[in-house]
Amino acid sequence: MKEVYDSVIARDPNQPEFHQAVEEVLDSLGPVIQAHPEFLPVVRSIVEAERIIQFRVPWWDDDGNLRVNRGFRIQMNSAIGPYKGGLRFHPSVNQSILKFLAFEQVFKNSLTGLPMGGGKGGSDFDPKGKSDSEVMRFCQSFMMELWRHIGADLDVPAGDIGVGGREIGYLFGMYKKLANEFVGILTGKGRSYGGSLIRPEATGYGLVYFAREMLATTGKSIEGAVCSVSGSGNVAQFASEKVLDLGGKVVTMSDSSGWIHDPAGIDREKLDWIMDLKNNRRGRISEYADHFDGVTYTKSQPEPASNGLWGVDVDVALPCATQNEINEEEAKMLVANTVIAVAEGANMPCTPEAVEVFQSNGVLFAPGKASNAGGVATSGLEMSQNSLRMSWTREEVDAHLDRIMINIHKNAFDTAEKYGMPGNYVAGANIAGFLKVADAMSAQGLL
Ligand code: NDP
Repeated sequence: MKEVYDSVIARDPNQPEFHQAVEEVLDSLGPVIQAHPEFLPVVRSIVEAERIIQFRVPWWDDDGNLRVNRGFRIQMNSAIGPYKGGLRFHPSVNQSILKFLAFEQVFKNSLTGLPMGGGKGGSDFDPKGKSDSEVMRFCQSFMMELWRHIGADLDVPAGDIGVGGREIGYLFGMYKKLANEFVGILTGKGRSYGGSLIRPEATGYGLVYFAREMLATTGKSIEGAVCSVSGSGNVAQFASEKVLDLGGKVVTMSDSSGWIHDPAGIDREKLDWIMDLKNNRRGRISEYADHFDGVTYTKSQPEPASNGLWGVDVDVALPCATQNEINEEEAKMLVANTVIAVAEGANMPCTPEAVEVFQSNGVLFAPGKASNAGGVATSGLEMSQNSLRMSWTREEVDAHLDRIMINIHKNAFDTAEKYGMPGNYVAGANIAGFLKVADAMSAQGLL
């Protein structure tokens, strides 16, 4: 394992996020390789992307200036199905971040039980502060290159940070024009053109279904629990909605400029207000504190300082913004406040040191590749509906999602126990996700 990890660092020394994701998985796989030494060559291969595409994305801003961004698609692993994973538009996007996300996606997609390989893509384009027509021109230019690399049976992207319904619509329109066909090459589409009910809600809802299952193993529940949520985008919004559905209370939310604390709780009416602020008016979370009484707003500190959100006394913490947003110090603050469970809505929001703090203090900890898999699982359901040319009801899709999350939880829980690490969902998820992909890669001759 050490030899594999060292070779990953030697090949790409400037990719810290990718190293972090690889190290976490390799750390879990020792007992598997002992039981299945035939899988060692798989480990050597699985850390290398099958294909990486990088391209120029030129577009014209509203003032008539040419702007040039970088586009990427990482096609990480197609052993168990077509590549599947989101597109991220954020200034921080680079190969390291996309490779970490694509690598995580391989195990996550395997855990859903659906036939999906792993991929991820995006651009260093920042949709914030751009007009709708600038975003449209950017998306069209991005797809002008990406379209030749994707397909319903090849690679099916979805949304992620900075890519929501608006962007997916523009991307889909351009694909359709270029390829001259109407097929489900993107998920997260609008309802009127092949989208699935519950897809927008799925990551956040699935996260809370997973947290519910995890809490139930110790006889606890979301009902009556006080929860902190970070972020105020897609995952954060619908995680908060499901916490409210299940009788919990949400007291924090954030964006990249700061966070709000509402001790009275963000109820449905206030959450609707946040959804309108973020999805339609595209404003800042600080406006919440101006609009509602009894709320404090705190500006973010420059990293790596703690921004204070995780110092709020809660029972359950749901980080739903971005990677590495809970560090060791913040994990200790949560433990000092006797947090019961931490479930990752975002991808890798807890640093390895933070995870260690939770696990060594008996906090229930759910890694994102298990607890946020509801989004990609429902994307899989969208692909099925597109292929069948059918559309299922809200209740049908939600029931599928709930069942998938229950199964992912059981799979991670049982696998951790089987390999001698009871309660360790990180190991359980990594091993369970790995075994299926490893078996398929071996059967296919490790190409
Ligand atoms: P959105 O763009 O809808 O929301 C992201 C939220 O996080 C926003 O509130 C944003 O603030 C905040 N944020 C982004 N970057 C930073 C940063 N560097 N520091 C502090 N806050 C930040 O994205 P999603 O909700 O879709 O994604 C959130 C996380 O969930 C990501 O890690 C993503 O990979 C993961 N995820 C998403 C899935 C999905 O289905 N959408 C599926 C599985 C995982 P601001 O408004 O200021 O930009």
